[in-house]
Amino acid sequence: MSNATGSGIVFEERNEAFYVSLPSHSSSFTAEAFAVKAALEKVEYEKAQGKNIGNSILILSDCQSVLKAIKNNRLDVYKNRYILDIRRRHFKLKREYGLTIVFGWIPAHCGYVGNEAADLMARIGAQGEADESIEVPILDYRSLFKQESWQRTQEVIVRESGYKGKVYFNYFYDKNKKKPWFQKIKADRYFYSFVNRIQANHYNLGESLARKGFIDSSECECGHEKEDINHVIWQCSIYDRQRERMGEELVKRGIAGTEAIEVIIQREDWFKLGVIYNF
Ligand SMILES: [Zn+2]
Repeated sequence: MSNATGSGIVFEERNEAFYVSLPSHSSSFTAEAFAVKAALEKVEYEKAQGKNIGNSILILSDCQSVLKAIKNNRLDVYKNRYILDIRRRHFKLKREYGLTIVFGWIPAHCGYVGNEAADLMARIGAQGEADESIEVPILDYRSLFKQESWQRTQEVIVRESGYKGKVYFNYFYDKNKKKPWFQKIKADRYFYSFVNRIQANHYNLGESLARKGFIDSSECECGHEKEDINHVIWQCSIYDRQRERMGEELVKRGIAGTEAIEVIIQREDWFKLGVIYNF
């Protein structure tokens, strides 16, 4: 039994217990596997001392994934080193001492005295000074790295939002969103870039081009002071004919109504956006 960075081992019949403090960054899987390994190590040690500890041993853990991994014969580089160690020790004890070792699952926090005691040991272990000689499998660091790089990217985005991508940040940024919006829908790639351009507030219209300094005035050919995306979609007299058709389409689908395109994207109303895109 273990918890985060502590492993607790209890020998029920003998009223013996001990704990191990693992280095931080150990996954709970590693801590659990380590506990099982430590139990086998102890059995091996006592056998080598010639002690009589019986011929069958039951090892209980409340971690199903560790038990499954022990049983699984698939061996590859991703296999946790402690699982490999467990399998090696198990085989050796069977062969050299004829021991029968059974691994069993015990539900956590169900009041099993032995397991509760092991849990307590693990908690003590987690608070103790880590034994840095214990090797932490490299894969345990992977989720840590992932978490850290995600965090760092978010910090950069938030910091830079003060001077770039303001529109995107105000309307579309969601720090809890890990997948891009276009994972949810199927459309042609021009539609994706249409939406992305609006989100980034970069498009081939007067307002955007003037802001970037490519042209002097953001004025629209119709005379309106600002040729931005919402003006073109909802107002500009140059596109009245096309807009009429779009209006009919929107009414037909029961989604008529003038609203800022950013709001539609924010709502992830791809249906309405599709009609506007065709416009
Ligand atoms: Zn116009």
